[in-house]
Amino acid sequence: CGIVGYTGPRQALPLILEGLGRLEYRGYDSAGVAVLDGSGVLHTAKKAGVLSNLETYIDSGAIALEGTTGMGHTRWATHGGPTDRNAHPHTDTSGKTAVIHNGIIENFPVLRAELEHSGIELTSDTDTEVVAHLLGAAFAAGPTAGDLPASMAVVCRRLEGAFTLVAAHADVPDTLVAARRNSPLVIGVGQGEMFVASDVAAFISHTRDAIELGQDQMVVITPTSWEVTSFRPGESATTDYRPFRVD
Ligand code: GLU
Repeated sequence: CGIVGYTGPRQALPLILEGLGRLEYRGYDSAGVAVLDGSGVLHTAKKAGVLSNLETYIDSGAIALEGTTGMGHTRWATHGGPTDRNAHPHTDTSGKTAVIHNGIIENFPVLRAELEHSGIELTSDTDTEVVAHLLGAAFAAGPTAGDLPASMAVVCRRLEGAFTLVAAHADVPDTLVAARRNSPLVIGVGQGEMFVASDVAAFISHTRDAIELGQDQMVVITPTSWEVTSFRPGESATTDYRPFRVD
C-alpha cells in the first residue's frame, strides 16, 4: 500500500523507515525493507503488523541493514494472508533480486504455474513473488542477461493488472528500477540522491522536486541520474521530463 526507495550517499534504512511512516495513513497490515550493502549483498527484513513491529525487529540487531540503496513497503494483502512470509520485499531463489509491489498481478496463476513447472519453489502465497523470480531469471540468462532495466521491461510486458514495482539486484550497485501501470509512482530528485515512492509524502522532507511517471513507464535511478522509458514494445525513451515543485 506504500512504497519508498532510495539511492544516494546516506544510509538508506532511516530514510526508508521515515518514508513508510509518512505513508502509514493509507492503512496496511505488514511492512518490510531491503537494503543493498557495499559488498553487493541484499538484506531484507519483514514483519506482519504495524511498522513498529518491523522497527523493533530491526532494533534487536537480528539483521544487518547497512547500505545506501534500499526500498521499503507497507502491504495491504490481496493474495495471501498478512504474515511475515507474505510481506514484501520478495526475492528470487538466488536471493539477489528484491521486489516490492503495490497492486494486483491478475495473471499470476499462469506465471506461477510456469515457474513451478521450471522447478522453482515459491515461498509465499502472494501474486507478487512471481515478479521477483521472473526478473531474476531475465537478468541471469537470455537476451536481457546482465541488463536490469531491460529485464524489468520484458517482465512488465508479461504482467496484467495494476502495479507499482521497485526492484534491486545485488549485482547492480547504487541502482533501483521502478515501473508502473494503473498504480502511482513518483520520483524524488534530490541533490546527489534519488527517491522513488507511491506518494510524494514519502520524500517531501528531503526533496520537493518530483516527477510523476505516466502509464506503462519505468525509471532507473542512481544517486545522480534518472531515466524514464516506456516498457511498451516499440516505444522509445522519453527524455523530456522536468521535475515539478511540490508545494
Ligand atoms: N497484491 C500484493 C500482495 O497481496 C500487494 C498488495 C499491496 O498493494 O500492498 O502482496
